Amino acid sequence: MASKTKAAQLARHWRYIAEVAGCFAISFGLEQLAGRFNNSAYDLMSERSQVSWQPQSVVVGVDEKTFEQSGGPEARRPILAQALEDLRAAEPKAVALDIILHDPSRHPEDDQRLEDALRATPNLVMPCDRLPSGEWEDPLPRFAPSDPRRLGHVEWATDRLDAVTRQIPLEEVAQHQQRWALSLVALSVALGQPIVTATDSSDIFVGNLTIPAPKGVPGRPLLIRYLRDRIPVVSVLDIAKNRDLIRGKVVFLGETAQTAARDRLQNPYGETLSGVEAHAQAFETLAHGDFLTFARDYAVFLVSLAIAAWAGLIFALLSGWQAYVLDGLLLLFASYLLPVFLFHQGIVFAYIEPAAAAWLCSIGAAAYQHLYVRRQLERTESERSRYQQAIHWAAHEMRTPLTAIQGSSEIMSRYKLPEAKGKELSDMINSESKRLSRIIQTFLDVERLADGQMELKREPFEAADLVETCLKRVTPLAERKQIEMTLESAVEGTVLGDRELMAYAFYNLLTNAVKYSPPHTHVRVYGDAQDDQLRLSVKDEGIGMDHKELKNIFRKFYRTKRAEASGEVGTGIGLSIVEQIVTHHGGRIEVTSEPGKGSCFTIVMRAHVSA
Ligand code: ADP
Repeated sequence: MASKTKAAQLARHWRYIAEVAGCFAISFGLEQLAGRFNNSAYDLMSERSQVSWQPQSVVVGVDEKTFEQSGGPEARRPILAQALEDLRAAEPKAVALDIILHDPSRHPEDDQRLEDALRATPNLVMPCDRLPSGEWEDPLPRFAPSDPRRLGHVEWATDRLDAVTRQIPLEEVAQHQQRWALSLVALSVALGQPIVTATDSSDIFVGNLTIPAPKGVPGRPLLIRYLRDRIPVVSVLDIAKNRDLIRGKVVFLGETAQTAARDRLQNPYGETLSGVEAHAQAFETLAHGDFLTFARDYAVFLVSLAIAAWAGLIFALLSGWQAYVLDGLLLLFASYLLPVFLFHQGIVFAYIEPAAAAWLCSIGAAAYQHLYVRRQLERTESERSRYQQAIHWAAHEMRTPLTAIQGSSEIMSRYKLPEAKGKELSDMINSESKRLSRIIQTFLDVERLADGQMELKREPFEAADLVETCLKRVTPLAERKQIEMTLESAVEGTVLGDRELMAYAFYNLLTNAVKYSPPHTHVRVYGDAQDDQLRLSVKDEGIGMDHKELKNIFRKFYRTKRAEASGEVGTGIGLSIVEQIVTHHGGRIEVTSEPGKGSCFTIVMRAHVSA
């Protein structure tokens, strides 16, 4: 019995663990949703912890006004040449150009002037782009820097889900040629230090600066920490007026005109900016050296798993307000404290995975425990009402024999009775007290069977023996009603089980057949053993039952109107015990019956039948 409860407990634990694990799996299955939520959480945290350091760069833009005054986009080359000439006087630390000069102009003199301006600009970084065809789009050879390390690519990584630019690839490879980002090259030129990588490190080094750039991730992306007070933007027309602002800074020179700029980006704060500004922002992040890095996938997985386990444990070990308070703290930790704390430490931790694990697993665990407690309560309720019913039945049944015993004993003590009468009364006391003890025994058996306390013995016994014993026991009853009892076919087979209980069950069927049959009828017993299956039938020619009655006869305390009218006293409990015994042995009971014609009860059991 103890092992049975233990097994049930273990099964419950496994079901609970499986449910919490299922919730965890669902939380990790929300990939698409996760992307969007993680982006939003990132944007929110970026905005809350905006950086505001002193910019080291200036954006010099070819804006609308410049195009208006200088002849439109057609005049790009002379505009650029003029800007470079003006910049030289302002003495910037370096100039990074964000306009790719890959076609010759229709005016060769413009190209010549620009070429001269480029050659005369110290610390110049030229842009290149990776075409969708997978080739590099470089400046014309006349504009290209003599040192190929002065070429920087102008790619950025725009999120495919919401088109926000949160990162740029630091490294791009096309046609087996690797190029660094324009901003990184500009930093290297400004610092006068080369860009260095090491085979045993995933970082990139520029002088003293260490830039985390995981090798395994394509493009080795850098998360841009956008400056709150934007980097100063100066029109190319106003360079001369802003010499002080430009001096000693790194200039990013490109188009800021809304109409002409092909590249307009959106940052996490929801602001729109030109591509050249984005490169300057990436440069600021690099120059300041305050980096954000993504937490590794396995770390996210392990932390979320721990959170799920924690939620499961809370509801497994605690209940009531304590569980909810502790779970509330866990939810706060997983969906707020953990990501915010790590963000401040420079680690971007996936938001949705741990939060979803915490919420889903908490809901799953709480719901499971809630349902379990409710089920327990319902079971206790039904057990209580069943027990009450049984008590009522016992009290009711005991009243009749008790009254008889009481009455008889009173008569015996009060009057001097003739010997024959005295014997009759003492016989009655004897038989009624036996009946009392039977009622108590039945009551206890019902309780113990319902509780699962009744241990079934597992011993082999011959079915023929069982039938014979029961027939012998029931014969006096049958004879009293002049009912003939015959064994119609030989019973074969060895049954494994509790002989006592099986005898109780079969005897019950026999006594019912006698009880509910009129005198001078015939009760037949059949045995049929086939393929390890034994069928024991008791067929009578009694009052029978209709379809509706048949459905209820295994219910406790149920008696048919027909049976009550027949004058037979019964308890309505015998068949419910018979059914329990037979099913506990892995068997079943089949019944056929017809009102007024008789019934046939068959016990179907597994048995060993020798060939
Ligand atoms: P009891 O016989 O003590 O009332 P049982 O649980 O053995 O209780 O049987 C339940 C009811 O099923 C009986 O009261 C009777 O109405 C019906 N029943 C059982 N056996 C037969 C039978 N052989 N013929 C007709 N009715 C029967």
